[in-house]
Amino acid sequence: MKTANKTVTAVRLVEDALKKAHEFEDYNIFTFIDDEGALARAREIDARIAAGEDVGRLAGVPYALKDNFLTPRGETTASAHILQGFSSPVTATAVEKLEKEGAIMIGRTNLDAFAHGSSTENSYFGPTLNSHDKERVAGGSSGGSAVAVALDIVEFATGTDTGGSIRQPASFNGIYGLKPTYGCISRYGVVAMASSTDCIGFFTKTPDDMNLLMEIASGKDSKDLTTLDDYYNDSEIKKAKKIGVIKDFDNDSVAPEIRKALKDKCDLLKSKGYEIVEVEMPALKYALAAYYIIVPAEITSNLSRYDGVRYGFRSEDSKDLEKLYANTRDEGFMPENKRRIMIGNFVLSSGFYDAYFLKAAKVRTLIVQEYEKAFKACDFLLTPVAPNPAFKLGEKVNDPVAMYLEDMMSVSLNLAGVPGLAIPAGETAEGLTLGLQLVGPRRSDKSLIEFSKELI
Ligand code: GLN
Repeated sequence: MKTANKTVTAVRLVEDALKKAHEFEDYNIFTFIDDEGALARAREIDARIAAGEDVGRLAGVPYALKDNFLTPRGETTASAHILQGFSSPVTATAVEKLEKEGAIMIGRTNLDAFAHGSSTENSYFGPTLNSHDKERVAGGSSGGSAVAVALDIVEFATGTDTGGSIRQPASFNGIYGLKPTYGCISRYGVVAMASSTDCIGFFTKTPDDMNLLMEIASGKDSKDLTTLDDYYNDSEIKKAKKIGVIKDFDNDSVAPEIRKALKDKCDLLKSKGYEIVEVEMPALKYALAAYYIIVPAEITSNLSRYDGVRYGFRSEDSKDLEKLYANTRDEGFMPENKRRIMIGNFVLSSGFYDAYFLKAAKVRTLIVQEYEKAFKACDFLLTPVAPNPAFKLGEKVNDPVAMYLEDMMSVSLNLAGVPGLAIPAGETAEGLTLGLQLVGPRRSDKSLIEFSKELI
């Protein structure tokens, strides 16, 4: 990562990043660009460097923040109308840790509202465009962050991954994206989507940058009781020998280019002396159905706090309390948010709880067990992230089921809490980027990142 020093100043790094951020405005990457705030912080960092201070491992490094991380700088909207006007009094732990090491946030990036989506088209601010083809989607929900890194505006950006929102846009834009082990990085100060699958992670251009960010951002946080001690409990880099491919994913629903990319990478590994083994994970075919029951159930609960009283937007038409709630939620949520609130309430309702939520919870246990079994047969898995490369804008946005199918290879990791690193894996003939994911057992994040270098 290019850090500031006495010759290359933080101001210079930030000015360059801001210039590019404005140059690429037509991609609709940012919901807010903090020109003044970022430059003021850069000047402060330069003064500390001039005074001989050790500013940190990210001294003066500009970065982009997904707009669902809370900081008092600018509004935190999660790209949703209902949060417009909301300026947070608190700072997310992840942001605190990055900034303590000298990183400088230059802006907040666009996402599907409340991170519900796989294309960034569900944003109140309109879609972000793909970095390789402006007629295609950026992927989602962290589309803005992925494109900010892919277009070299910043060297890293934050993301959240509840069911694929880091890995899929990373693949759609040809960069690295890590969904860490559940609990690696504190979720404190990040707008909650589904608390049992939400993970904080990053987009970078290199594995080493990813490792550095993980070292900085992970660790126990008393404000998030699900956090793990630290990512170094896996300090012994696991020397992988056997890499598994999931037999159940080798089917017609995966685009031929993606199957070829997987085969090419397997051949590369074989040529380096690794053994490729096929593993059967039959419960994975139920992962998507289980995910779209469990996640909306948690969303229903997490979104109930947005009522027009405490945060952001309030409907004009709010003569009595009932109306205030109903109209604010009606006007403030995007259709996809509402769909998930409805599904969530349905699957949790007393008449349907056993048939849906309880069954999905059982499937989740099967998936956890299947991953445990798979990692007895191999060290890591190599699988597609999504069934296809970036699709056209508008192609799936009006067909929720088609959009949900995008997530069929990514969501099982979140249900199991295991880490997944999306890696670049070539391009299609039309120049669209392809991605694959390396999946490891819980807490193997560091080993996965290290191992990914074998696939470059
Ligand atoms: N695409 C998935 C969904 O819409 C995942 C979203 C995410 O990871 N935030 O639920």
